[in-house]
Amino acid sequence: MLHYNLTSGSSDLSRAADGSLHFIDWASIGIMKHPFLSLYLAILLSLASAAQAKPLVLSSLKPLTLIAQEITGSIADVDTLLPATASHHNYPLKMSDHTRLQKADVILWVGPELESFLQKPLANLPSAKTITAYGLANMNWPAEVHGHHHELDPHLWLDPRNAILVAQALTAKLALADAANAAQYRANLALFVTNVKNLDQKLQVSLKPLAGVGFAVYHEGFGHFVSHYGLKQLDYVTFTPEQKPGAKHMHQLREKLAKEGKCLFLEPYNDMQSARELAQELHLNLGTLDALGTQGAATYLQLLEQMAESFSACLANRRN
Ligand SMILES: [Zn+2]
Repeated sequence: MLHYNLTSGSSDLSRAADGSLHFIDWASIGIMKHPFLSLYLAILLSLASAAQAKPLVLSSLKPLTLIAQEITGSIADVDTLLPATASHHNYPLKMSDHTRLQKADVILWVGPELESFLQKPLANLPSAKTITAYGLANMNWPAEVHGHHHELDPHLWLDPRNAILVAQALTAKLALADAANAAQYRANLALFVTNVKNLDQKLQVSLKPLAGVGFAVYHEGFGHFVSHYGLKQLDYVTFTPEQKPGAKHMHQLREKLAKEGKCLFLEPYNDMQSARELAQELHLNLGTLDALGTQGAATYLQLLEQMAESFSACLANRRN
């Protein structure tokens, strides 16, 4: 755990170091007069300082981890709070997760619109160590497709311009918390921005021919990618993975897909027999979209590339 500079009154990050403040409190009430206890405290303090070598970034989801890793390189550690198979909409935090949140120097999450289960735990931690991506300035939002949901699509990392915004916010935070390595964080950011912009241009070109090909997604989580690359999403099976679609909605979905659908996308952890049967009946291609990069994306760029490949495979005349 990184200890922020307690003497610098200008930084509100110093609030994160309340662990050390407790030691000082104990000393001031006389515990230090006991020889064994003072030795014990000295050992604890030395262990604490040995463990504070690198800042620790804890991100809620794998895509945010992938973005963070581009900035930290090997000078800071990045860990993901949620297991790969957990739902990013609804996850019961364990006691150990609360400890991990406390130990982290920087916490990166989308916001209560997505990981609502983090809202309360984060409210009890210093706000200065948290980056809420949903609230970052200049975030890009998809053009509204369906019109009846007023909340903005929180799967914001699927727009490469937003990944850059998240990376910039993390760089600023790390440069402040770990000033000795600020130049390296900024150099990592510059490289990431260049690479993302290059890939974005490449994908704009490769996805352009698919602009008029209709499809449906499993849950409403791909609007950022769909909108940014001008793809033609007709509908979704369900709004969030936890909701079961009603008969009326399934009927509308069937009509839209029968009329101009080419492909139906499922997800690695959301497979639904009725959706498969619908695709078979309407002779649609079946595809898989992996918004979280759980199926082997080792970098953020790979996550984007795999997303583009899934669309290309399913919307072209090939079967996945
Ligand atoms: Zn989702």
